[in-house]
Amino acid sequence: MKRIVLLGATGSIGRNVLDVVARHPERFVVVGMAAHTSAGALGEAARLHPGAMLALTDPDASAQLRAVGFGDRMLDGNRAMERLIGETAPDLVVNAVVGFAGLSPTMAAVDAGISVAIANKETVVTGGEILVEAARRSGASLVPIDSEHAAIAQCLRGQRVEDVDRVFITASGGALRNEDPATFADVTREQVLAHPTWNMGEKITVDSATLVNKGLEVIEAHWLFGLPYDAIDVVVHPQSIIHAMVRFIDGSIVAQMGEPDMRLPILFALSWPDRVSSTLRHDVRAFPDLTFGAVDARRYPCFDHVMRAARTGGAAVTVISAANELAVAAFLNGHIEFSRISDTIAAALDAVEAPALKTLSDILDTDARTRAWVLDYLAEPGLGTG
Ligand code: NDP
Ligand code: MG
Repeated sequence: MKRIVLLGATGSIGRNVLDVVARHPERFVVVGMAAHTSAGALGEAARLHPGAMLALTDPDASAQLRAVGFGDRMLDGNRAMERLIGETAPDLVVNAVVGFAGLSPTMAAVDAGISVAIANKETVVTGGEILVEAARRSGASLVPIDSEHAAIAQCLRGQRVEDVDRVFITASGGALRNEDPATFADVTREQVLAHPTWNMGEKITVDSATLVNKGLEVIEAHWLFGLPYDAIDVVVHPQSIIHAMVRFIDGSIVAQMGEPDMRLPILFALSWPDRVSSTLRHDVRAFPDLTFGAVDARRYPCFDHVMRAARTGGAAVTVISAANELAVAAFLNGHIEFSRISDTIAAALDAVEAPALKTLSDILDTDARTRAWVLDYLAEPGLGTG
């Protein structure tokens, strides 16, 4: 029985993880669940997992759950997720948090030698350099949940990394893949959140429309698989059936396929290194026709900004990730137009100093400086935040 702590239990990935666990009660048990503000949703999940400790990082939310009888199972405060991991000592931490908030608990787990199944790509992007080194030291594994990376892991299984010529990560193209880029200043929140193939949380759905998501995934692949950036390519594949392909030095290409259903890579990551029998099976005859195309730089200027940060290295990736988190939140709150996400992240990358990385505190410091800079930038008259 694998004992699991689930961070981000109330989100899109978190709910899918709970679905997978419910399908395999003989394999997995949830011993801890964390969220930020969703007291009601965490309380509901807690009733289905009576043995699980709970953590809420938002004080009002945790007070709400304490008030309805969960006090003896509750942890709260800034470091609630780290304490949850420390007190439950699980076999596996599943990190389904969105954004930079997932970095510190992931470091804590890896430092303690606990493996992490990770959906939270912002953590791999900003902390990759030190996380991979910490995992090597402690013996913990970092197992990808992101579908493209779960696909790469499967294509590489039993292969030698030196035999890899190129990895192709596929992109659906997001909600605006057929819109005229000249209209991007006017697109609405609803348009951007209507993803054509995947049903996901709001932040990653916006990141799919800007293609920031794919840039972050290139960086994620760089750290998780030790691949140079020149060996990672992005292909637009609107059907989201092939999640990644690896071309080897002899010209052979191995691809991983599946319906766009996150429960497939989640089950893969939870059961790693084994495979578990499941009913999540699809008939290839029902797949749509598969097509592949190049990334159109005019449609996706953000992709180039993220790749510029990737090639700069050090804390530049933290700058772009933090700036993007705030710009996406500002777009979702109606403060800025969709097309300003690109301007904001490019301007932050030029303006915020990004040192070479040595420690977690270097990353935390760069994240905080970037957030302060972006808040100031977005508050300038004429940018719509007033
Ligand atoms: P959601 O927005 O649906 O869920 C986010 C989760 O994180 C919620 O449980 C939320 O809690 C929690 N959370 C948010 N902020 C904090 C914080 N400051 N401290 C602690 N917990 C916090 O996101 P998704 O599930 O869509 O995405 C999660 C991660 O997985 C992202 O990094 C995303 O890029 C990645 N991913 C997602 C995919 C998908 O299909 N959704 C596919 C591939 C990768 P609360 O509800 O209380 O706010
Ligand atoms: Mg993905």
